[in-house]
Formats: sequence, structure tokens, C-alpha cells
Amino acid sequence: MAGRPVRGRLPGPGWPPEWGGSAGHRPTRDLILLEELFRARAYRPLDQVRLAAHAILEFGSAAQKRAYLPRIRSGAHVWCQLFSEPDAGSDLASLRTRADWDGTAFTARGQKIWCTDGQWADMGLLLARTDPTVDRHAGLTAFMVPMDTPGITVRPIREMTGASEFCEVFLDGVRLSPDTVLGDVGGGWAVISSGLASERAFVGANAVQLEMMCDDLVALARAARLPDGTRAVDGQDVQAVLARMLARVEAARLTVRDTVRRVVRGEEHPSDGPVAKLVSTELNVELCERALEILAAAAHVEESAEEVVRRWYEAFLWSRALTISGGASEILRGVVGRQLLGLPRA
Ligand SMILES: Cc1cc2nc3c(=O)[nH]c(=O)nc-3n(C[C@H](O)[C@H](O)[C@H](O)COP(=O)(O)OP(=O)(O)OC[C@H]3O[C@@H](n4cnc5c(N)ncnc54)[C@H](O)[C@@H]3O)c2cc1C
Repeated sequence: MAGRPVRGRLPGPGWPPEWGGSAGHRPTRDLILLEELFRARAYRPLDQVRLAAHAILEFGSAAQKRAYLPRIRSGAHVWCQLFSEPDAGSDLASLRTRADWDGTAFTARGQKIWCTDGQWADMGLLLARTDPTVDRHAGLTAFMVPMDTPGITVRPIREMTGASEFCEVFLDGVRLSPDTVLGDVGGGWAVISSGLASERAFVGANAVQLEMMCDDLVALARAARLPDGTRAVDGQDVQAVLARMLARVEAARLTVRDTVRRVVRGEEHPSDGPVAKLVSTELNVELCERALEILAAAAHVEESAEEVVRRWYEAFLWSRALTISGGASEILRGVVGRQLLGLPRA
């Protein structure tokens, strides 16, 4: 993707007009675009790039906006997130990568992991500890780092899908000038929190994908033949599973619709994003598990459904990852329990 300009300039229609957005843009248009890209099974805007843009728009200086936003909009720059570490994921504020100030520049040292698209990213949004003596959240700073800065080593990680979509990134004496700081020194937590909240809501907007998976589940049940030659879809057990999944997907669609209505009215609740992400990613796992059960019981699947079967294996291998990235389900349940249900912290 890096270096390939997007002719239609799809990213950023909701940005302020001075940075290329459309005046009077409505958030529902973003959702409609995303839904249509899902329906077409087309590539979608990269999450990390959207999050970087979100953070730069909110926290960047005018010079930083001028330097980075046009290149995000044209597709010339791919960004990655350098947040997680081997011992700091859910508890991100415990991260140990240091960026020490020597009077002229910061020097970063440490290790990051699970950096999606790190191997082809042009820029990284780095979260590092600049002050170990204060409260652990207050001691963190966000930096915008060109990925070809000397001292950065990127090692792709091979996943069980066979692909390498994320990487380890090693920072060994990486010099960062003061103008790479995004927001305030010590203000990094606020910078990355605003982006992550929007990531959760965005993931939750994937109700269309769930509907398409439901269609694929029915197609699979029609094409799968049991050892006695009957179709899986004719069995009462499979019919009950299909009915349950259709009802759950409809409930997810309505949940997302409610969230969108609140977003449009500017009445979004802080737990809307976590709820939407939980509902869609957990249901995604369940749909994959039901599909694999149908496949496991089948003697064979009609050739016409070969593409559907391929999609199910791929979706299954990815499904668990989606319940971890952008906030693991257990963490989000805690957030929803406290923010929406008013439960005490355990
Ligand atoms: C597909 C994918 C893409 C990713 N992309 C990026 C990226 O681009 N950049 C980046 O920086 N990171 C990225 N990550 C990392 C991601 O943010 C972390 O994996 C996530 O925050 C969880 O951290 P962890 O893997 O260290 O697991 P841990 O935090 O060690 O958690 C392990 C398990 O323990 C549970 N757990 C932890 N703490 C609690 C608690 N207090 N209460 C209950 N349960 C708990 C978790 O829910 C989880 O099930 C990505 C991850 C995935 C899967």
C-alpha cells in the first residue's frame, strides 16, 4: 500500500474543510462507505492510518498537520502504532520503552510488538516513557516517528494464517527531535486514548460483515452433505443453529443502528464503542465456530461452495485476534460493567 496514492481521496471526508474534508459532512456517510466496501469485499481504509489522522487532527500543531495530513489523505503515507510491548498490552501504561531528553533531542530505547503493518509503514505513532518519576500515565509521551529513522529494526511475525501482518519493532538509540512530539510531553496517554476509543466504535460498525457471514453460513449448510447424503441444512439441529445466529446478527445490527443514531445526534455514550466491539467480535467468533462444526460433520461440500469454505477457514483463523486487538474482550467487559452498569471495580 505504501506510496500508492488513492485517486478518490476516500480518507478524511469528515476532517475539517481546511484539511480537505467536506463542509457539512455527516458521520453516516463514513458508515455507508464502509458498509459498501464490506459488501464489495474490497480493501478498506487502514485502521492505524485513520487513528493517526484522528490524533494529529486533535493534538497536532499547525505545522504537523501541514506535514502529515495531506500525505495521509493521498495514501502516500502508511502509519503504524508502536504501543504494545511484550509485557504491556492490556495494561499499556506499564510500558518500559524509554525516550530520554538530553537537552536537544529524545533518545528512544525499547521493544514494541504486534505492530500491524510495521514492515511497510512510513510513519509510526510511538508511545514511550519520558518521565519515570511521575504517575505512570503522566510519564508517557506520543511521538511521530519516520520508520526509516536510524536505530529502528522491524521484524515481521508469521501468524497462523500464514501471513505476516504484524511485527516486532526494536528501538535502539533512536534520536527524536522535539517536533516529533504529538501533543504535550507527558500527554501521550490522552493522545492514544482518543484514537483507541474511535477504533472500538469503528470495529463495532461492522454489522454488514456479520450479515454477510450469516449468508455464508446458510450457503455452507446448503452445500454441506452429511455421510448419509442429506444436506446439513435439512437437519433440525443445523436449522436451530441458523435461526439462533440470524437472530443474534439482527440484534447486533440493531445495537449498531442505535449507536449510529447517538453518534449522529452527538449523544454517544463512552461505553457505545466497547459494547459495539464486544457484540460484533464475539459474534464473529461464534459464527466461525458454528461454520466449522458444519464443516466437521460434513462428508463433503459441493464444489460450487469452494470459495465460501475458503472464506470460513480464513475468518476462523482471524476471529480470535479481533477479540484482542484494540482492547481485549475481558477488558472491555470491565469497562462496560463500570461505565454502563455502574458496577464497582473488582
Ligand atoms: C490483530 C492484532 C493487531 C494488533 N495491532 C497492534 C498494533 O498495531 N499496535 C500495537 O501496539 N498493538 C497491537 N496489537 C496488540 C494489542 O493491543 C494487544 O494484544 C492487546 O492490548 C492485549 O495485550 P496482550 O496481547 O499483551 O495480552 P495481555 O494483556 O497479556 O492479556 C492476556 C489475556 O489476559 C486478559 N486480561 C489481561 N488483563 C486483565 C484484567 N485486568 N482483567 C481481566 N482479564 C485480563 C486479557 O483480556 C487477555 O485475554 C494487536 C493485537 C492483535 C491481536
